[in-house]
Amino acid sequence: MKKIVILTGAGISAESGISTFRDSDGLWENYRVEEVASIEGWYANPKLMLDFYNERRRQVEKVQPNAAHKALALLEQKYDVTVITQNIDNLHERGGSSKVIHLHGEITKAQSTGDPFWTRDIGYNDLHIGDCDDHGYQLRPFIVWFGEAVPEIERAAKITTSADILIIIGTSLAVYPAAGLMNYAPQNCVKYLIDPKAVPAGGIAHLNIIREKAGKGVPELVDKLMNE
Ligand code: NAD
Repeated sequence: MKKIVILTGAGISAESGISTFRDSDGLWENYRVEEVASIEGWYANPKLMLDFYNERRRQVEKVQPNAAHKALALLEQKYDVTVITQNIDNLHERGGSSKVIHLHGEITKAQSTGDPFWTRDIGYNDLHIGDCDDHGYQLRPFIVWFGEAVPEIERAAKITTSADILIIIGTSLAVYPAAGLMNYAPQNCVKYLIDPKAVPAGGIAHLNIIREKAGKGVPELVDKLMNE
């Protein structure tokens, strides 16, 4: 079975109604990115961070996977597919994908501030100041913020080295180390990039650029790959 590795960013969830980072001038839902997506932001104002991610969690509960998420799941009928996402939403899983690596965490989980490897499913429930793990450490959202290590990056890089086909969707390729993953794909791997804007992927051999929104470009590419 051929292996497909799919790297997705905020753009794949845009048509579900979740806004991206860079399309709003470095603001995320009207907050400065550093304020709500960095470890310094957490130390400065944990309540603001909890409230912000409580809001994001409620939003994820309300939205639905779109045609792009659903189309990617169909590829599993013919290919060995791994989705590596920078997104913290759960729309790939709800769209039917079975192997999803979240590089930047998951909004439906909490993490202990005393032990980064302690995580727990919280579904769509809010987190508050005073919510603690069994050892009394404050809980925080399970999100990899700027300034923190990306524990899943090695697993993701290893899987990418065995890709026959790499599909990059809806990412500005501005956030490292995620943006560097495509460099792990083998030379002869067939690569596609779907994004309505030009993104900086220069120097990558055999890159097929599809300048479309994910809701149109992904189902079309999936159709082609299912008929190859
Ligand atoms: P980004 O905001 O930097 O870039 C978004 C990209 O998506 C842009 O290149 C844009 O042209 C493209 N795009 C916009 N609409 C699209 C559409 N309909 N179809 C396809 N592409 C479209 O996002 P990023 O590269 O993922 O990096 C920012 C970080 O933001 C990530 O680490 C992620 O964790 C976080 N984030 C996540 C979510 C989410 O979970 N849904 C939402 C916002 C931000």
